[in-house]
Amino acid sequence: MHLTFLGAAGTVTGSKYLLEVAGRRLLVDCGLFQGYKQLRLKNWAALPVKPASLDAVLLTHAHIDHSGYLPLLVKNGYGGRVWCTPGTAALCEILLPDSGHLQQQDAEYANRKGFSKHRPALPLYDKQDAIDCLSALERVEFNDWFEPCAGVRARLRPAGHILGASSVELEADGQRLLFSGDLGRNDHPILYDPAPPPPVDYLVVESTYGDRLHPPSDPAQELAAVIKRTAARGGMVLIPAFAVGRTQELLFYIYQLKQQGAIPDVPVFLDSPMAINASELLQRFASSHRLSAAQAREVCATATYVREREDSIALNSRTHPMIIISASGMITGGRVLHHLKARAGNPDNTILFAGYQAGGTRGAALLAGAQEIKLHGRYLRVKAEVASIENLSAHADWQGILDWLSAMPSPRQAFVTHGEPAAADALRLRLHEKFGWAATAPTLGERVHLK
Ligand SMILES: [Zn+2]
Repeated sequence: MHLTFLGAAGTVTGSKYLLEVAGRRLLVDCGLFQGYKQLRLKNWAALPVKPASLDAVLLTHAHIDHSGYLPLLVKNGYGGRVWCTPGTAALCEILLPDSGHLQQQDAEYANRKGFSKHRPALPLYDKQDAIDCLSALERVEFNDWFEPCAGVRARLRPAGHILGASSVELEADGQRLLFSGDLGRNDHPILYDPAPPPPVDYLVVESTYGDRLHPPSDPAQELAAVIKRTAARGGMVLIPAFAVGRTQELLFYIYQLKQQGAIPDVPVFLDSPMAINASELLQRFASSHRLSAAQAREVCATATYVREREDSIALNSRTHPMIIISASGMITGGRVLHHLKARAGNPDNTILFAGYQAGGTRGAALLAGAQEIKLHGRYLRVKAEVASIENLSAHADWQGILDWLSAMPSPRQAFVTHGEPAAADALRLRLHEKFGWAATAPTLGERVHLK
């Protein structure tokens, strides 16, 4: 049996693991590289295996860095099934067509600006390619064993990271393997705790926070403080947020704070069709999370949905205290741009960040204290308060990963992936020091023989 790390090695994106066993080829995760250009360029390189030669694909979850290569895989000849939970399939139906649309936009932008080597610049795949690949999705419930191809048994175990997220357990050739996928945190307000890991021979574990601990702060309290002081000034709170996961967590906290009477009853607008669709899934997949059907309904009803662009723009003329949640989470695009333009100049308002801001984005500049940011070719003066909630990560930190693994007997080998080099190495060292495990952090493209 051989395992090849085709992505998420030395970096947090591009998750793709190729397993070759008894003449069969399986791919666990099928993600896009994201972030810096040198990483994104890797999406254009041909895979070392022909897509048509693969027998099965299994997805841990729907985030684009785990699923976003799927449209290209199918376009390039993969004709098999893609196994995942129903929650993951539903999120793929939202996220993949959007990813295709963004690829098209990028290609159009490159053509307008004339900076592509290729004329015309082509998208990696388009929206139709993404829609086409959705029919390959094969839904399997958590914890049910299935046979993705002859000689291989698998089951998907809850990983607590986003709706539908799983760890993949595989049995083949007398060996057992576990791919952690992105591992969530215990005591998440909406999602169940990750299921305890089964005993295995080989472990592939993520390390996004392999060298960091989450702060002990309570995100609900921080959110309440920001909303209260902004409303007291007569201002509004603008929250740039990621559509999947983060938005639903924010809605839950706002719902809870309103129930407790801990914040004033200001109107909340959810201004992102994708975030609305993702939130609605809480009601469709009631058994996949902690909320009762009634709670899921009430959490969604906390916000007024704003689907139409005209209604989004109409919000600009509202002056009373309110909360607007809008994408994108790092203010790189989307409707949040026009809200920022309308609101950033007023010191009564607050721009509240609820997630990681990557270097080079407007979000990162604002958090670093920039007084002016560039928007649609002009500089925008920022007088609003800028705040952030620190403790909303959907990933376990290193202590959380160790706690999760502590019940597991020693595997023959652990592979530490899905982390920046320093984070992966820190976790590798901790697995060795704390548990005495043989652990390595593989490099991109590395192929190992599992005996
Ligand atoms: Zn993820």
